[in-house]
Amino acid sequence: MQERRRPMADLSTHVQSIKGIGPQRAKSLQKLGIETLRDLISWLPRRYEDRTEFHRIADLVPGESACVAAMVASTPTVAHIRKGMDLVKVRAVDESGTLDVTFFNQTWLKSNLHQGETYVFYGRAEGNLLRRQMASPVVEPLGRREVTGRIVPIYPLTAGVSQLVLSRSIRQGLDACADILPDVLPDEVRRAHHLCRINFAYENIHFPESTEALALARRRLAFEELFLFTIGLQRLRRRREVVHVPPCAAVDMAPFYGALPFTLTDAQRRCVEEALADMTSGVPMNRLVQGDVGSGKTMVAAACVYFAVKNGRQAALMAPTEILARQHYEGLAPLMEHLGIRCALLTGSTPAKTKKSIAEQLATGEIDFAIGTHALITGGLDYADLGLVVTDEQHRFGVGQRAALAEKGEHPHTLVMSATPIPRTLALILYGDLDVSVIDQLPPGRRPVETYAVPGSYHQRIYAFLRKLIGQGRQAYIVCPMVEQSDDTASDDRKAVTEYAKKLQEEVFPELKVAYVHGKMKPKEKEAVMAAFAAGESHILVSTTVIEVGVDVPNAAVMVVENAERFGLSQLHQLRGRVGRGQWQSYCILISDNRNEETRERLKVMTKTADGFKIAEEDLRLRGPGDFFGVRQHGLPGLKIADLGCDTKLLQEAQQAALELLASDPELSAHPATAERVRRLFDQAADTMN
Ligand code: ADP
Ligand code: MG
Repeated sequence: MQERRRPMADLSTHVQSIKGIGPQRAKSLQKLGIETLRDLISWLPRRYEDRTEFHRIADLVPGESACVAAMVASTPTVAHIRKGMDLVKVRAVDESGTLDVTFFNQTWLKSNLHQGETYVFYGRAEGNLLRRQMASPVVEPLGRREVTGRIVPIYPLTAGVSQLVLSRSIRQGLDACADILPDVLPDEVRRAHHLCRINFAYENIHFPESTEALALARRRLAFEELFLFTIGLQRLRRRREVVHVPPCAAVDMAPFYGALPFTLTDAQRRCVEEALADMTSGVPMNRLVQGDVGSGKTMVAAACVYFAVKNGRQAALMAPTEILARQHYEGLAPLMEHLGIRCALLTGSTPAKTKKSIAEQLATGEIDFAIGTHALITGGLDYADLGLVVTDEQHRFGVGQRAALAEKGEHPHTLVMSATPIPRTLALILYGDLDVSVIDQLPPGRRPVETYAVPGSYHQRIYAFLRKLIGQGRQAYIVCPMVEQSDDTASDDRKAVTEYAKKLQEEVFPELKVAYVHGKMKPKEKEAVMAAFAAGESHILVSTTVIEVGVDVPNAAVMVVENAERFGLSQLHQLRGRVGRGQWQSYCILISDNRNEETRERLKVMTKTADGFKIAEEDLRLRGPGDFFGVRQHGLPGLKIADLGCDTKLLQEAQQAALELLASDPELSAHPATAERVRRLFDQAADTMN
């Protein structure tokens, strides 16, 4: 008689329903958040230990880990060393020598290691040629091959769940879903990119047959992750593209270019062309312009504004702070007015009467170009025909604020400028729903900021150096030591800044004017201090990182950063970008007493390169994408396997494959398993992204 087939489990089956997982184990797993079969098999190892290498006892190399198959030659003994510390000792032998093995606080091994039986021990060898030792090795009977003799996965754990329990549960889980794992990669994609099958991938990501098999499994799963990710992002993007707007007409840009005091760089030109092409396409532009500090993003925006206004539309430029808005206004208004474009500045401190008149002129269309802070989006403002919205320093604004400004028009074109260089790989993920232009070139004639990483013992020399430069008429920024995080970080910041500034003023630079800003100040106070500094009324500005925002003080020629090790590279790069904006040779001095290898390496990167993108890549490599500004904020589903720092090429392959699939099957109707997984992956993300 034919055996009745068990009903097929499905991946959302509770783990307890599979063979070998009882209530007790299910409860343990639940502590890790593992409830379904899917959760279980998706619980991936954090790393692996290669325990494949076997040595004879005589060949063990002190200091190195290896497996030894050896026979227990003595009855294990237990010694109480002191309270709470028991030591099990046993002697093991092979044909080459003797190994003394000790275990701490594993008294149960006394009755589990039997004299005359052979076991495999895996651990770090110690001792000398005469006496080999291993302390607390992993041990199991010869032939079991569960924790020795292979590449062993090491899982993230929680209290009460051991590696062994987890890996045995996963074994059961994999067996239970051997027949039901849906392959979300279409066969042709899998073959074209030389990817292994899903069963092989799951089997080997958990229980690798070999290093090669593990690499194949990892590659396949990372590809899959990036592939699904791309499809999800594309679908979000497409939702946006169903909107149609009247295309902008071509405009003669010569008067604009002719009015500039310089020629745009090739990179700026290219960005302008990309943006203008968007605006003539009939679909709203949604473009991010990325460019290092000083790369000239403002002029790219200005070109777009010119283009939009000459098309009879209005444009708005929103900056995150009042002082930045004013700088933009002062920089752009003369140029624009000269070109016949009527400009207005609108910020929180615009007098009510002026505000009212600006509001009226925006509503009638008498003003073509409004520059300001978020005052531009607050209620009551109506635009006659807002066609282009530019936001500067994008990461200071929430998606919501950008959207609010966009709602002031009928699907206006949007251009976002960001000075946070984001590695290309990450930009593709973070801004997958935005088109990205990169200004990868600085205007000619810039002198790189000389950068030094020094220990705290250099303070006196640094102060002398500041005194000299200030004597020559320059100004300096000092980012003050940060205090350890506490419940009330803001007030601690304030204390750190004010005390440090006071000390500098009274003890070090009594003859100079030391000013300070910190995050607890009211925006008005902050801006007043910044404005005074910009006007040359103070010599040294002590601050927390609030000065990160791109205020332009061309006369500032030194940036000193205390406790530089506490900052990410990209952040340091932003800080450094505050200087070197004028005609003077500028300096950045990074002070750190931290001797940690990685810290040294990071700070060294700063002294070696001025390229923000290279620095960002390095930051990504050293610290991972989690640290990148805003990765979490974007609410994108996290990547579990793919490593954006390393898998650049794989990402490109996966993206291309995803685009091809969508081109041939836009609705994924022929690929239901793929569609289902993308939906699951983006379920929560979708709300936050739109
Ligand atoms: P950022 O990208 O940091 O916003 P800005 O737009 O503020 O940079 O430009 C920095 C400085 O470089 C400004 O003083 C600007 O006038 C100048 N600039 C911009 N483009 C060029 C260029 N092509 N040639 C020379 N100077 C330029
Ligand atoms: Mg700028």
